[in-house]
Amino acid sequence: MSHGTRRPPTPVGLSDLRSTDEAALPPPTVDAGAGRGVPAWLAATLNHCSRCGAALRLGMVPGEDRERLACDACGFVAYVNPRLVVTCLPVTDAGDVMLLRRGIEPGRGLWAQPGGFMEIDETVEAGAVRETLEETGLLVEPGHIVGLYTRPEAAIVVIAFEARIVGGAATLTPEALEVRPFAPEAIPWPEIAFRTSEWALRDWVHRVRPDLELRGR
Ligand SMILES: [Zn+2]
Repeated sequence: MSHGTRRPPTPVGLSDLRSTDEAALPPPTVDAGAGRGVPAWLAATLNHCSRCGAALRLGMVPGEDRERLACDACGFVAYVNPRLVVTCLPVTDAGDVMLLRRGIEPGRGLWAQPGGFMEIDETVEAGAVRETLEETGLLVEPGHIVGLYTRPEAAIVVIAFEARIVGGAATLTPEALEVRPFAPEAIPWPEIAFRTSEWALRDWVHRVRPDLELRGR
C-alpha cells in the first residue's frame, strides 16, 4: 500500500485471517496514521538509547528497508512495534453483551468492553480474562475471536474475544461506573468509547444477529 492511501476501516474477522488466498483478504484495518511511521506522541518518548543513553537518530540502517531509530554510539536499533490490547465481549446466558461505562480517561463516561494492555508474561487469553475480572468482576472463558483491529495512530492492535460468563458478579470499580448487559439491538452506538469497540461490537452483532441492519456512522 502506498503512503497516504486512505481506506475506510474494515474490521478483519478471524475467518478472513485464516484465508490462504491473500488476494481474497479484505483491506486491513487501517485508520489515521497508517504508513506514517512512528506516531509523534510515541516518538517523543524515544529520545535516548536504552542500552547506552546516547541520542537516538531516525534514519536508514544497514539491512533494513525503512527508517529506524538507531544509536550511532553503540549501534542499538530501537524497534517500535504496536502493543496488544486484550479485550472480551462477555455474553450472558440470555445472549446480551456486558459493557462497562468507563470511569477513567480516555472515554470517561462512555461505554466499552473490558480490556487492557497484555502483560509481557501472560497469554492473550489469560490477559483478556484478567482485564475482564479487574474491570467488571466477571469471570469469563474466552471463546472465538470476534476480530483484530489496528489503530496505527495509537500504536495498538486490539483483539476481541467473545467470552462466556462462568462466574463472578458485576462489580463497580474506579474503572467501571456502571456494568450492564445490552441486547444486540440495544447497543448504545453513539456512546461507544472507541472505534475499535464499535468495530468489535459491529462484528459481533453481525454474527449473532445478521438480521439487524446497522447504520454507518
Ligand atoms: Zn546506544
